[in-house]
Amino acid sequence: KLELINIHKSFGERKVCSGINLTVNDGEMVCLIGASGSGKSTLLRCMNLLEEIDEGEILLNGEDISLPGLDPQQIRQQIGIVFQSYNLFPHMNALENVMLAPRRTHKRSKDELRPEIEELFKRFGLADRMLNYPDQLSGGQQQRVAVIRALAMKPKIMLFDEITSALDPELVAEVLDVLRQLHREGMTMVLATHEMSFAKELADKVCFLDAGEILEEGPPEAIFSNPKQTRTQAFLKSVL
Ligand code: ATP
Ligand code: MG
Repeated sequence: KLELINIHKSFGERKVCSGINLTVNDGEMVCLIGASGSGKSTLLRCMNLLEEIDEGEILLNGEDISLPGLDPQQIRQQIGIVFQSYNLFPHMNALENVMLAPRRTHKRSKDELRPEIEELFKRFGLADRMLNYPDQLSGGQQQRVAVIRALAMKPKIMLFDEITSALDPELVAEVLDVLRQLHREGMTMVLATHEMSFAKELADKVCFLDAGEILEEGPPEAIFSNPKQTRTQAFLKSVL
């Protein structure tokens, strides 16, 4: 369970998170929607300490992970993140890309890791692609490898930032399938997305961000069919 309590974050004079409160329960998928610049990415980056918050608390299973002095590296193992640009290392094959982080941080050998990593590739339909280099994979396959790479650290929570935005339309579905599968398996996830139909289908909770605030949140039925705030209505009208 991840709880954000009164999160504030500014870049210089620009306030980007303005008192955000959000609870993500175990096994839930929470979708962040909102206009460009509303603060979705920044909020995700705050959640796994890629950005330092100015004020507030971030509780992971009740423990404040935003306290100074904690090892952010160790917290990032528990809260994985996948970005729009998958950033695989071009000189390593898919398997090596995925093994890199667990080998370093968990100090485990390739042989030791191999079975469980192979299992991950199998689970997400890429068993026959493990030895391919990124330039031999489609964008959708590369993004799925990036998801597998994050999962290899055995995170408790996964954050996804617009992970289908850079993909050709015909490749979006296979990546969304991976998220569907993770949701089914009970992974706790927070997703910034422009894919409204996907949020509608799978989110347990949708949060509409506007100028650094969660202006409205609720189950997808409520947000999409019956938005209360005029800004939410205007946003949905512009994207749907
Ligand atoms: P998009 O839908 O385009 O991805 P977003 O909702 O993810 O937008 P953010 O990327 O979180 O929005 O940006 C929120 C605001 O914070 C923007 O005004 C952006 O310019 C600003 N911002 C983000 N990162 C930084 C930074 N490192 N330094 C200064 N300003 C930043
Ligand atoms: Mg963003």
